[in-house]
Amino acid sequence: MNEQTEYSDGDLRNTGMSLKHDREWDYELDRIVEAVEERDASKVGLQFPEGLKRRGPDVADDLRELLDDDVTIMLSGQPCYGACDLDTFMMRRTDVFVHFGHSPMKESEKIIYVPLFSNVDVMPIMEEAKAELADPDDDPDVGLVTTAQHMNRFGDMADWLEERGYEVHTRRGDERLTHEGQVLGCNYASADVDADQILYVGGGKFHPLGLAMEHPDKNVIIADPVNNVVTIADTEKFMKQRYATVHKAMDAETFGVIFCTKIGQGRMEIAEKILDSNDNAYLITMDEVTPDRLRNFGFDAYVNTGCPRITTDDGPQFHKPMLTPGEYQIAVGNKPLNELSFDTFHGTW
Ligand code: SF4
Repeated sequence: MNEQTEYSDGDLRNTGMSLKHDREWDYELDRIVEAVEERDASKVGLQFPEGLKRRGPDVADDLRELLDDDVTIMLSGQPCYGACDLDTFMMRRTDVFVHFGHSPMKESEKIIYVPLFSNVDVMPIMEEAKAELADPDDDPDVGLVTTAQHMNRFGDMADWLEERGYEVHTRRGDERLTHEGQVLGCNYASADVDADQILYVGGGKFHPLGLAMEHPDKNVIIADPVNNVVTIADTEKFMKQRYATVHKAMDAETFGVIFCTKIGQGRMEIAEKILDSNDNAYLITMDEVTPDRLRNFGFDAYVNTGCPRITTDDGPQFHKPMLTPGEYQIAVGNKPLNELSFDTFHGTW
């Protein structure tokens, strides 16, 4: 696994904190204990994203010490990559359900979200990123975005830029996002601001690539405090890969249209629209979308209406072309190739 290995939302393996700062994480055990006592709970469910699952047993141990012996603690073994991906089976069967590592996509009394903010210092990498920003005398406008893991430092980041003469533009994109300035791997609406340059502070390249595709008119500067690098988002290689996939799918006669059953990933209207217009399209329902699970179907191509990152980031691993809904429209000739854009996801459930 190299330094640049990228992960989906909430996978904190590469944030640095999983290696160096474990003891400083705040699992908010007091809040969990309080909820258990308030609800007189006998079953507590804990869900961690993939990169934090190994922390589960320790957190369960700590809770066992704090709670009565008759309280059962369960760890979710379901894969989890975002707040869109709650273990609903566990949620229904526990009195207190705790989701770690993500900010809420939708608030609910039933769920305790423990965000686990990164404590990596973002200021050194912002200092480096300044060289890529326009001089504030020439262009003071900067859009600022980050991921949920660094949201606790967002105010500091904005102050830092303002102290150096920039005018910082921020917004809360839409209801899928909890915070002002927050982006998800499937939603960059927070970057719809009046600035030609966007500073993205966060780990990996996946978020800013989608951001740059969604806003081709903006210069997207990536300040990655995890891998300690500053880069400019370049979509060319990524676009080539998508064009190649669409070209392959142009010969397809049959399509498997995937409806994802994860709570925050369902887009049935989009799937139905495709099915209504194509007799050779078939609806497949599934939670985890993996190459192995699709291999036996034998369709010529697939359209994924679930998490867009599965299509774009894992696309090459599928044995047949895996398209976003927009790419499908291009492959069947309903739209021109130059309308290829990033698949974004809005709303909750
Ligand atoms: S659907 Fe969006 S929030 Fe959920 S895992 Fe995919 S990119 Fe992340």
